[in-house]
Amino acid sequence: MTIVTRFAPSPTGFLHIGGARTALYNFLYARHMGGRFLLRIEDTDRARHNEAAVAAIRSGLQWLGLAWDEEFLQSDGFARHAAEAERLVEEGKAYYCHSTQDEMAALKSEHPQRRAVSPWRTRAAARVEQDSTAVIRVLTPDAGQTAIDDLVQGRVVLQNTDIDDFVLLRADGTPTYMHAVVVDDNDCGVNTIIRGDDHLVNGVRHRLLYEALGYELPNFAHIPLIHGEDGAKLSKRHGALGVEHYAEQGYLPAAICNWLLRMGWGQGDREFFTVAEAQELFDIREVSKAPARLDIKKLDSYNCHYLRTLWHEAPAQLLQELRGRTSELPPQDDVLRAAVELCLERHTTLASLIAEIISLFAVPAHPLLDPKANKALHEFADADCTACVDALVALDDWSAEAIKAKLKELADELAEGKFGKIARPLRAAVLGRMDSPDLARTMAVLGKTNVMARLNH
Ligand code: GLU
Repeated sequence: MTIVTRFAPSPTGFLHIGGARTALYNFLYARHMGGRFLLRIEDTDRARHNEAAVAAIRSGLQWLGLAWDEEFLQSDGFARHAAEAERLVEEGKAYYCHSTQDEMAALKSEHPQRRAVSPWRTRAAARVEQDSTAVIRVLTPDAGQTAIDDLVQGRVVLQNTDIDDFVLLRADGTPTYMHAVVVDDNDCGVNTIIRGDDHLVNGVRHRLLYEALGYELPNFAHIPLIHGEDGAKLSKRHGALGVEHYAEQGYLPAAICNWLLRMGWGQGDREFFTVAEAQELFDIREVSKAPARLDIKKLDSYNCHYLRTLWHEAPAQLLQELRGRTSELPPQDDVLRAAVELCLERHTTLASLIAEIISLFAVPAHPLLDPKANKALHEFADADCTACVDALVALDDWSAEAIKAKLKELADELAEGKFGKIARPLRAAVLGRMDSPDLARTMAVLGKTNVMARLNH
């Protein structure tokens, strides 16, 4: 059997990371099994449909590298959804319900513990009477149980008396999610449904509809939702944002995928999996039942790893990525290369790396404005300052090694070997601040002319 999975987002918002993880698991499982991965935009609620959200979902998936084999738009199937609901009415498995929403709500409030039973389910003659205000409800059993054997959650059982006759077709003829999802998954040949466990109960309810429609039951895998570090349901407060936000910050897709993968799946203590490696190994049945926790520090550590890997394996690609983000970087490739080499270890994202490189090359803030730099400069005797500047002007070899050796020599001569006594004021004068990468390497990257101008200033 060819495994067919799908990611079925509702285009009411962008691709947030919970959705991205669902997509990743669907993608990985399909690829692992040599199957197919589909994208279906679930736009049954046309009023809340948002084209910008559809575009963001597509580009988010593309950015993550989760290529889908085929795409569907749920609303294209409205006629088919209606026909299938009407077929069930003809077969006596569904009925027209003429009760208004208010009437149904009133029934529910009379017996909040029980399912609300539409009076129309028992009026056999009226059940097939269509009119423009009637909805179609599925006729669920009055007794017994319904269960699914979920690949992640195990067996999940509901009493049928707890399953209401849910609506399949609204009065305006549009399908509900509950109905459209079943018809579409069947028609698209989806046989493994991987989604968030907020749909777990729906999975059991869907089973009744699969049976009524005479469709083959798929496998379900309801994956635990992601929670914030405090255990609460995920929100923006926890850093749960759209994928494009992470892209903007300069997290690499490889890091995001690894992070999402490990929120629910792993192999022993192993932390790092590229998407290709995960494709080889991933099995949806091994996904944990425990809710995953969103941990931004973890993401930072993955991003550090993948940034460094990219730098070692494809430096030109990283440079291109940096240049694509801003035009404020030094234009010469060798200078930029040296600057990345110098700063990379201090950064976890491209955005902060870029900010530091730009700040190194920008005219530095006046050191007297920064209290620590100001203090460092005032500790420097005028004669020592002059000696340093003279020695550096005379230095022909402007490599980091030669600069370092010269600074050490100056420290021996002027400060009894205390390197910091020389380095601190020089750092203040060159950079206008005290927090920077290694001084000699920074001076080498900035170039002699630049450094001497800053020192003389
Ligand atoms: N459109 C539904 C959602 O975004 C999809 C649920 C499902 O995968 O069946 O929650």
